[in-house]
Amino acid sequence: MPEISSSKPYRIGRSKTGLGLFATRKIKKGTKIIRYFGPLLDSKNKKHDDIDNKYLFEINNRWTIDGSTRKNIARYINHACRPNAESDVSSRKRKVIIRAIKTIEPGEEINYDYGTDYFKIFLKPIGCKCDHCEKKRAKKRAEARAEKLRLKLKAEKKAAKKADKAARKATKAAGKTKPSKAVKKPLSAARANPHARGTGKPTKTKASRTKPLSRVQPKAASRARRAS
Ligand SMILES: [Zn+2]
Repeated sequence: MPEISSSKPYRIGRSKTGLGLFATRKIKKGTKIIRYFGPLLDSKNKKHDDIDNKYLFEINNRWTIDGSTRKNIARYINHACRPNAESDVSSRKRKVIIRAIKTIEPGEEINYDYGTDYFKIFLKPIGCKCDHCEKKRAKKRAEARAEKLRLKLKAEKKAAKKADKAARKATKAAGKTKPSKAVKKPLSAARANPHARGTGKPTKTKASRTKPLSRVQPKAASRARRAS
């Protein structure tokens, strides 16, 4: 690991995604923190154009900094979608400075936005691990959980209502069937009404509702029998 002078307001440390750069002192908003440096690659140079690594910092169409050298401490700075620093690019000087855009407290990780291209190519496929995106994901998960719970409660309420309705119906039916049970069914009535025969099912309710008729039915039935 490269040596860092203690006069610097940062140190390399463990971050969520591996290593990162952390403030060791308060860094005031607008302060230059570190330079992102390395050999300049010329896009017109075929050999340079073939170089590919994660630490290429494009200054403009022609010039790119190859920041893969370990001496480039700035390469340890991780990306964040809501960063506390920015990369200040001087196209003319072909220089990149990382500058604080917020006051950074000691212990806080320093980060800057790597830009849309880097995000699309490297971060989007694996999911950005920056605080902002993690919080966004956590919020989405919480919302999904809440929605799941809401649907579950709704289903439970519906089921309870259904059960309650069924229970009430059953009680009502029981109340109506009881008297008919007390009344001994004349055999002929049962024969006259085949649907009422031997059914212990709720359908009996309908049959038993016609029960008052059953008292008449024997006569009707016997009359019918007699008629036949
Ligand atoms: Zn992010």
